[in-house]
Amino acid sequence: TQRFEGKVILITGAASGLGLATAQRLATEGAKLALVDLTPEGLAAAVRSLPAGSETVTVAADVAQLSQVQAYVAQTLQRFGRIDGFFNNAGIEGRQNLTEDFGAEEFHRVISVNLDGVFFGMAEVLKVMRRQGHGAIVNCASVGGIRGVGHQSGYAASKHGVVGLTRNSAVEYGQFGIQINAIAPGAIMTPMVEASLRQMGGEDWESVGKTFVEPNPMRRFGKPEEVAALTAFLLSGEAQFINGTVIEIDGGQSNK
Ligand code: NAD
Repeated sequence: TQRFEGKVILITGAASGLGLATAQRLATEGAKLALVDLTPEGLAAAVRSLPAGSETVTVAADVAQLSQVQAYVAQTLQRFGRIDGFFNNAGIEGRQNLTEDFGAEEFHRVISVNLDGVFFGMAEVLKVMRRQGHGAIVNCASVGGIRGVGHQSGYAASKHGVVGLTRNSAVEYGQFGIQINAIAPGAIMTPMVEASLRQMGGEDWESVGKTFVEPNPMRRFGKPEEVAALTAFLLSGEAQFINGTVIEIDGGQSNK
C-alpha cells in the first residue's frame, strides 16, 4: 500500500515551488489533497499538474486573513471530513534592504503572511487534529529563521518566529498524538528564488545564481522535489517520534 493512501493533507502555497512539488509527490503516494493559494487560476493549474484521478479540493484564500484561514479549514472538512497532515508553507520573501531602510510597511507585510499566516493556520488546524487525536504539521521556516542572512529584517523575524511557534506548540500537542516540526530550506530553485535572482542580476540572473551557490558544499541549488521528500517523510506517519524539531535542508551550506 502507498504511504498516503486515504490520508488527507492540507497544503498552503500549493500553486508554486515547494508547496506544488509536495502536492505532486503526495498525490503520487495516494493522498487526498486540500490545496490553498491566492488565486483560483494558480490552483487550477496546480491540479492539472497532478496525476489523473487525484482527489482534491482547492480553496483560494489569503493566509494572512483569519476568516479566510477558517474558510480553508472548513472547506477541507466539508470535502474530506478530517485533516491528517498540514504543510503550513505559504510565504513571501519581501524586498531586500538594510535594516534602517527596511520600512515599517514592508516589515508588517512580510510578518502578516509568514508569521500571522502560519499561526492562524496552526491554531485552526490544531482544533481539528486535537478532536481527531492525531495529526502532523510541518511549518515552513528557512535557514534565515535560524541564523542571520542579512537584508531580510521582515523575513528573518517571521521565520525565527515560525521556529518559535513550532517549538512552543510541539510541547503542548505531543500528548494529543500530534507532531509539529519545521523545515528550514536553504536556497531551493523555485519561482520565488528565481524572482529574487532576477531582481539582483536582471538578464544575467543565472550567473548571479552561480556565485550564490559557490559557497555551498554541493555547489548547486536544492530542488523542490528534495524538499517535498522531506516534508512527505515528516507527514507520513513514519516520523511519529520526531516532534518540535527544525530540520535544515540546505546542502550543508549552514554547516560552518
Ligand atoms: P513560491 O513563491 O514559488 O511559492 C509560494 C506560494 O505561496 C505561491 O504560490 C504564492 O501565491 C503563495 N502565497 C504567497 N502569499 C500567500 C498568501 N498570503 N496566501 C496564500 N498563498 C500565498 O515560493 P517557494 O520558494 O515555494 O516558498 C515556499 C515557502 O518556502 C515559503 O514560506 C518560503 O519562505 C519558504 N522557503 C523557500 C526557500 C527557497 O529557497 N525557495 C528557502 C527557505 C524557505
